[in-house]
Amino acid sequence: MLEGYVSPYSATAVERVAAADAVIIGRTNCDEFAMGSSNENSAYGPVGNPVDPAKVPGGSSGGAAASVAAGLCHMALGSDTGGSIRQPASFCGVAGFKPTYGRVSRYGLIAFASSFDQIGPFAHDTKDIAALYQVIAGPDERDNTSSHRPPSSPLEAGRKLKIGYYRHCLEHPGMDPEIRGHMEERIEKFRAEGHVVEALELPMADLFVPTYYILSTAEASSNLARYDGIRYGHRAKGAGGVEQTYEKSRSEGLGPEVKRRILLGTFVLSAGYYDAYYGQGMRVRRIIRNNTLETLSRLDLVVTPTCPTTAFGHGHISDPVAMYLQDIFTVQANLAGIPAISIPSGRHSNGLPFGMQLMAKPFDDERLLSIAERFSAA
Ligand code: GLN
Repeated sequence: MLEGYVSPYSATAVERVAAADAVIIGRTNCDEFAMGSSNENSAYGPVGNPVDPAKVPGGSSGGAAASVAAGLCHMALGSDTGGSIRQPASFCGVAGFKPTYGRVSRYGLIAFASSFDQIGPFAHDTKDIAALYQVIAGPDERDNTSSHRPPSSPLEAGRKLKIGYYRHCLEHPGMDPEIRGHMEERIEKFRAEGHVVEALELPMADLFVPTYYILSTAEASSNLARYDGIRYGHRAKGAGGVEQTYEKSRSEGLGPEVKRRILLGTFVLSAGYYDAYYGQGMRVRRIIRNNTLETLSRLDLVVTPTCPTTAFGHGHISDPVAMYLQDIFTVQANLAGIPAISIPSGRHSNGLPFGMQLMAKPFDDERLLSIAERFSAA
């Protein structure tokens, strides 16, 4: 839809990076309109994972993760609506951070699901993540969801932490046994280091992915209505009247996954189903957010695996619902609006890296980054 399109204005995050004297060397590939978990939905073709090009880099910001992992650049920006920074970071063996909703201005970011989207950094290590985050974070008068809250204070040196983990995640049937074993070891190590570790229940975990896909497709169907062949983007030739131009331009210009989501989102917002799906989804989201905040209120952070598996092969997952389940551990942070980072944690016997996810209270971003830095150093 936007092939060859050049935006007439820049994004706040990009302007801030440029103003800090960073050299921007290019744009990175991603799934079409950030919809996907493997980078196979890109109109520009798939990205290979630099660790093993036969494998996907994850998605949707797979190009950004791959470019850092391959050493093409020091850092990259991605966007995370349901895990699109953290999952590719895990698959490519780099760090990736989704800030608190409202920490980074979304001005200039192409909207997918506006109440979930956040821009965030990729880098090899958490120090660089923090440096790039500091440059892009902060209020922006051009995004009225950007927050004026002051930065949180970093972790005091030597302070022991209250760490939670969800038993549910480790017991998940799709969980790779090696990644599970690795996480269990890390949790034991946290205990041995004197941190207070608590096993947590995860109420309604089976509703996370369905709620995310109902609400994010609803928002996407509305956001993507602007690509109609009239305003900008692809316009079908010789379609006839204006209605036919809308239809033909959208049919030609949008890929199958994007169409699937527009159909689903339009359905859940339609008059007869709004209450049963969108309205209900909003109520469930509120409960998930409240539960998440309540759990985090007595902890410094919650740790989970970032993903249940390492990177899979190109073409390996063809069922859309199986692909959606890639996001099983990451969507909670977007549903609740909390900050979450994936840091490289281990290497599987199959040779591929995998990450650990750390989640914290809303606006504890700076504190979370200092914790991630301590864990990475260890
Ligand atoms: N994989 C998720 C999806 O396809 C997340 C995408 C994202 O965070 N942009 O919606």
